[in-house]
Amino acid sequence: MIHLKLTFIGADHEVTGSCHCLEACGKKIIVDCGMEQGSNKYVNQDMPFPAAEADFVLLTHTHIDHIGLVPLLCAHGFRGPIYATVASCRLGDIMLRDCAHIQESETEWKNRKAQRSGQPEVEPLYTMNDVEAAVKQFVPCHYNDAIDLCDGIRIRFRDAGHLLGSASIEVWIDEDGVKRKLVFSGDIGNLNQPLIKDPTYLDEADYVLMESTYGARSHGPAPHYEQELEAIVERTLARGGNVVIPCFAVGRTQEVLYFLRKIKQDTSADVIQKMQVYVDSPLAVQATHIFGEGMEECFDEETLALIAQGVNPITFDGLHTITTSEESQQLNFDPTPKVILSASGMCDAGRIRHHLKHNLWRSESTIVFAGYQAEGTLGRQLQDGVKSVKLFGEEIQVNAEITQISGISGHADHDGLIKWITAFRQKPKEVFVVHGDDEICDVFADELQNKYGIHAFAPFSGACFDLVSGEWLREGVRELVKKGEGAPSAAAAKKSTVFARLLAAGQRLAAIIGRSEGGSNKDLARFADQVSALCDKWDK
Ligand SMILES: [Zn+2]
Ligand SMILES: [Zn+2]
Repeated sequence: MIHLKLTFIGADHEVTGSCHCLEACGKKIIVDCGMEQGSNKYVNQDMPFPAAEADFVLLTHTHIDHIGLVPLLCAHGFRGPIYATVASCRLGDIMLRDCAHIQESETEWKNRKAQRSGQPEVEPLYTMNDVEAAVKQFVPCHYNDAIDLCDGIRIRFRDAGHLLGSASIEVWIDEDGVKRKLVFSGDIGNLNQPLIKDPTYLDEADYVLMESTYGARSHGPAPHYEQELEAIVERTLARGGNVVIPCFAVGRTQEVLYFLRKIKQDTSADVIQKMQVYVDSPLAVQATHIFGEGMEECFDEETLALIAQGVNPITFDGLHTITTSEESQQLNFDPTPKVILSASGMCDAGRIRHHLKHNLWRSESTIVFAGYQAEGTLGRQLQDGVKSVKLFGEEIQVNAEITQISGISGHADHDGLIKWITAFRQKPKEVFVVHGDDEICDVFADELQNKYGIHAFAPFSGACFDLVSGEWLREGVRELVKKGEGAPSAAAAKKSTVFARLLAAGQRLAAIIGRSEGGSNKDLARFADQVSALCDKWDK
């Protein structure tokens, strides 16, 4: 019997925790496996099959809300190939290591607290070893190459223009002559971002799963990024202060470097020519190297033209990178005015907090926000104009200039999304609207339906769609996470218990037994004896 199903697991009626499961041609495919971040509205439902039974993972891009749980999937027994673009494989490697590092140190901190108060210890969601294993399963793919996953399933990565390596994924299915073409949009990029290409417009699909993050917002006219940044840097360095820019290590940091290089190239002012810039974040330094090595297939024409002239678009005289924490602390004792780029982007963790401690009290320094600051973060407090903050147990006066540059969003706005979906030559049979806030994905789906005549629906987590009959097999779960239970990744953390790991190992064993049918009697007997011995050992 033909069996083509799409199950919605995460980033459905919310923005984070992207995950969707496709069953076709007897194979089980997971598209993105992200972590739920920030305030969580709905709990991601379980996948329709155990991790050990999945055959393939496809990744659209490397933001943690799209790949953050991949190592957990592997720890739970997934052993198949993980397909992603070349750039995503390289960035995914460093971003997952960073994520495991954060989790290991958070767990260490929690366990020290637990020991003091006599509470039981906790386990990290996953460890560096899990990441090491996961990245070995990465299969780097070039954009626009057709890749045969197995008999009847072919995929192709197309540049989504959202982050280095980001992709929309086209999937062609042919199961006994029943043919369906699916497109997973991934996160759709904004126009005219520096370095990377604009999103690719695709032209045919039966079913489209598309994001709607800014489905109700317009980015307005293009910001004067370079001029704004130049004015800030010039006046701050001239008055002897430091420019401190909290920014995300991957993407935003390289974008700021791109503009700083341009400013240095285009401005003759003495303070700009002498400008010293420090990138102080190990992840940002690694990511900047990746941007600089063999990423031509991701770059736009302007960037390629620079490279052809022998110019590295994100490097210039006076740029320094810092990896060790000793060097990082030394920076605070060097009186020369400078520009410091550090993470995290919202100031809630990381080395940026040291730089804030040493610069917030100085009226000659400037703190520049280059991206969105979520509610409850230190970044948002500073934007809101607090007079003092507490850092490392010390009360710090806010005397520095606090400002922001209207950075370029990585996401398409409402008009960009409409342009992307209306580029399909024939209207898809159905558009599944995902990756948007609760109301926004409904409003966007309604607009597609009523204004553009495109069948569209925003499903909830747990919903399942039959791609043969075009009918819903199951509705999703509309129950909101109760207040107080909304901790980030609550569901994921629950699944990370050591017992869950054992359960997954058992499911893997069952899957292997299932696949062993037809093997030689000698092998099967040996296998059976070993499983029985294992059972005898533990069945006390
Ligand atoms: Zn993203
Ligand atoms: Zn996303």
